[in-house]
Amino acid sequence: MAIDFRIRDFFHPVLIGRLWREFERNPWMPVAEQQRHQENRLRQIVAHVWEQVPHYRRVLEEAGLSPADIQTVADLPKLPVLSKQQARAAGSALHAADQRRLHPVEYHTSGTSGTPLTLLHDKYSNALEFVYYWRHWSWAGYRLGDSFAELSTLYFLKTGREDRSSAWQPHLRRLLLSSHQVSTSSAGAMARELERRGSLFLKGVASTAYHLALCMREAGCSPRPLRAVISTGEVLLPHQRALIEQVFGCRVLDSYGHMERTVAVSQCEHGGRHVNMDYGVLEFINHRPAPDGDAVLAEGIGTGLHNRAMPFLRYETGDTFELFRESRACPCGRTFPLIKAIHGRQEECVVTPDGRHLTSLFILPEFVAGLREAQFVQEGADALTIRVVPGDAFDTAQEERLLSFTQKLTGPTMRVRLARCGPADLVRTAGGKRRMVIPLAASTVRRDE
Ligand SMILES: [Zn+2]
Repeated sequence: MAIDFRIRDFFHPVLIGRLWREFERNPWMPVAEQQRHQENRLRQIVAHVWEQVPHYRRVLEEAGLSPADIQTVADLPKLPVLSKQQARAAGSALHAADQRRLHPVEYHTSGTSGTPLTLLHDKYSNALEFVYYWRHWSWAGYRLGDSFAELSTLYFLKTGREDRSSAWQPHLRRLLLSSHQVSTSSAGAMARELERRGSLFLKGVASTAYHLALCMREAGCSPRPLRAVISTGEVLLPHQRALIEQVFGCRVLDSYGHMERTVAVSQCEHGGRHVNMDYGVLEFINHRPAPDGDAVLAEGIGTGLHNRAMPFLRYETGDTFELFRESRACPCGRTFPLIKAIHGRQEECVVTPDGRHLTSLFILPEFVAGLREAQFVQEGADALTIRVVPGDAFDTAQEERLLSFTQKLTGPTMRVRLARCGPADLVRTAGGKRRMVIPLAASTVRRDE
């Protein structure tokens, strides 16, 4: 997800210190004890939504349930699944009535679907998010204060530095590399910057990290080896992993989560994808055999255990998970359960005439008011169309804003135009899911593919 990381939203040292001690211990505890902790948390959050969250109070009442009926994870299916569309329709009815005392930070996100949703993250869950990342990075050897690099688009847009390829934040020891400036001509400068700042880790959306590695290889640069690359936001494909590991001389640790903060899966140093039981409850529904017969495919449903300002119970992740037929232990010794793979979050990219791969276009609708839906369609090597389903507030000023931001990312050699259209004019997958970006090769595919 494309939300910028503001350190002040996460910096709650006392809370973080307490949570760290707990989080450091959790992955090694016996599974039965993990379950006990998880269900304690679940009961607390169910009691909270009953008292404070209008949407869930109504859902529980309509189902003839009270908090006493949801005591364990096995009780969760008594509640209906909340789809992304239902969440958007519910809007502020998902916000807790007592949110102010929880000190929430508000985020407006398009998600990958392009339709806005206002999320609230309370102080506690922001501290927890920090600790969750810290723990995962520590599996790769990270210690607080280590120098790291991060691929970002939002930072450069927000600070008006679209032309810069990097920025250094000494107080965080963070080197920001501009995702939309990654190219063979900028790769050398980025490699030198990584070395100059002593970056030990690199975090980035999977496809962007891959394109950086690809450009570095094509430019013939060999960056100083890192300790790990942490990939986020999308499915990391095997060829992407192989190239990133080769170019940066280290392992890639993949991570999975979303801004609704219901589930987190993180890959350990042995390659195991662990479900973080202390973060949320990940349920699987609609099981079916995987094509290779050795695994099972299922849809993931997430229940967050911490964010009281805007809790999500049984939230549809929209992603398909590949599960082992039988539970297995990881050589790392952590007892968090393992899943085999995650499918369905791969973003498509647009290639500019000057050879840059843009993987972050999907964040642009966040900067524009009044969009109902949007889709970026590359129609030629130098032609990009933004299809827009306008809402009431989408006026010419917003139209110019969207065009201007897009042009900043693509550069002047791409011809960018905007086409207003209806929802039926957007390209959808066989499953009816709209894709945010349609790359050149796919843009001629019929809508009913
Ligand atoms: Zn492991």
